[in-house]
Amino acid sequence: MTQPTLFAADILYTGMGSPIRGGGVVVSGQTIAAAGPLPELRQNYPQARELPPRRVISPPPVNAHTHLDMSLYDFQPLPYFRWIPEVAIAGRAQRGLEGAQSGLESIRASGAAGMGDIVWDADTLEWLLQESEVPGVAYWEVLDPNPATAQATFEATRERVKGWRKLERSGGLRLGLSPHATHTVSHTLHRLLAEYAAGEGLPMQIHVLEHPSEAELFATGAGPLAESFLASVKRMGTELSIAEVIGREPAPGLSAVSYLEGLGVLKARPTLVHMVNVTPEDITVVAQSGCPVVTCPRSNRNLHCGTFPWQQFAAAGAEVALGTDSVASGETLNIHDEVRAALAIHPGLDPRLVVRAAVKGGRRVVGGRVPFIRRGEAWSDGYLWPEE
Ligand SMILES: [Zn+2]
Repeated sequence: MTQPTLFAADILYTGMGSPIRGGGVVVSGQTIAAAGPLPELRQNYPQARELPPRRVISPPPVNAHTHLDMSLYDFQPLPYFRWIPEVAIAGRAQRGLEGAQSGLESIRASGAAGMGDIVWDADTLEWLLQESEVPGVAYWEVLDPNPATAQATFEATRERVKGWRKLERSGGLRLGLSPHATHTVSHTLHRLLAEYAAGEGLPMQIHVLEHPSEAELFATGAGPLAESFLASVKRMGTELSIAEVIGREPAPGLSAVSYLEGLGVLKARPTLVHMVNVTPEDITVVAQSGCPVVTCPRSNRNLHCGTFPWQQFAAAGAEVALGTDSVASGETLNIHDEVRAALAIHPGLDPRLVVRAAVKGGRRVVGGRVPFIRRGEAWSDGYLWPEE
């Protein structure tokens, strides 16, 4: 009999119940003999060789929100309403397949068990559906604020989706839809896409309330985001007002969340990404709707968006997941870097919530089963999360 090894950790998440502090796993050969609180394991396995404690032992995390096709961009922190035109749009020539290939390499190297990736061009989407061995969802991004072209954009999207669904493979990525953001897709198109996605069982992600200026846009129709957004629309040859885009007058008390709820979009259970600048009512609505939420702490910090009210979402019972966003705002595509940043940005938050979000929350968003760390299962060194 080989001597069993006791791997100890500050946080142990077995994939069942809640993560615990001061846990461990006893491994004999390559098989798990036991997992649980350390004192119990020490008592039951006195012959085991105990290793110095790790930070986290858990099934691997999921990167629930990425833009792999932006991986050739440089990291550039700027306020969100400037970052969109000056970085994301200005650098569009760098966006595409080559970036996605390099990004997928980073995802693989980071040890992520899955991803939720937003995709901007057809070549990249087809390549990801055909080639990615990292599972999860590739969300086709749709952006059209003009209600007059909503029906045409919707029909074109539906035709493309029909073709792409044939490329889905088991073990690979599923196809999803991403109406880009609350204000960059017209009210008409939001409705059409949500109804279609719900009917087809297509997962959805929407960027919502990333920066304070987005809350201002819905409340007043003005502010720096409204200005920079309407100027971008004008450069593309269309003159629109916020009221035309959202199909009603902006008003104090109108939030992006109540707007989506009013359109019926939340019934399709989209994943809401960012959700930094929300009201307590928004949090209640989202928790009751069953829509999961993805937070990207580094990106939010770097684009001056504020801090995600994680504790309030957790208290309301919302499902929270973690994502890196793109390298242009989030710095790296490594979900372990994001976990460490999340702990630093939320010093008062129970770190077990962060681990659970990255592991289980992420799979709630992009699919996949959490492997259980329990007696009789095979041990994987991938359960030892990197220390630095
Ligand atoms: Zn994003």
